[in-house]
Amino acid sequence: MNEPFIRNHQYNFIKKQIEYVRHACGTVTDPKIVESVRYGAEAKIMELFPDAADVQMQLLGNISALQTVEDFQQYLSSVEPYMTQFPQVTEKQIRKLFHKNKKLAIPELAIDYRYATYLGWIDISVNKLYMVYPLDGQIVGIEGKFTPTNKKGICFICNRHEETVLFTAISKSRPAGSLPDYYKAVGNYMCMDSRECNKNITDVASLERFIRDVIG
Ligand SMILES: [Zn+2]
Repeated sequence: MNEPFIRNHQYNFIKKQIEYVRHACGTVTDPKIVESVRYGAEAKIMELFPDAADVQMQLLGNISALQTVEDFQQYLSSVEPYMTQFPQVTEKQIRKLFHKNKKLAIPELAIDYRYATYLGWIDISVNKLYMVYPLDGQIVGIEGKFTPTNKKGICFICNRHEETVLFTAISKSRPAGSLPDYYKAVGNYMCMDSRECNKNITDVASLERFIRDVIG
């Protein structure tokens, strides 16, 4: 049997491509254009999985056969069982990740871990934002201040126009010979609602770059 191999952000990417095709089928009258949209979507999905086995390619391919609304839904439901889960974390593990923080707020942990690329939560009482992510197979946690912007902006993680906060964390990297009071803050605008962000993220490159910047 085929093992789960699709991460949440990849699933979001697939969903987005399928949505393009469905939209083109419903609005574009030139069949050649529809075909090229189908072809493009299939190619982009395949590019996500350069090492895909034949069965996996079979599962993801055949987008040219999708015609009706039911077909598109069917495609996505056939893909969903192959989603991997975010590594389930316990409260104890989270406390360990942020062991220096004695006032740590624990997030809701009873969630569907398939639909998580990262765990993010905020503690409004102290203006803190926390993030947990499996970086290179190891769970890491970062924390920082958040400043509400009270307006919509582009989130650096999911690239969508959403209600954002400015997340600022202190980087642990120190250049050689730096003074004891040296510090470097790294900041980015990101979704206030990490659940929405997890529904929209299609690429982990910016997120991983940021986490690496912070953990040094
Ligand atoms: Zn976002």
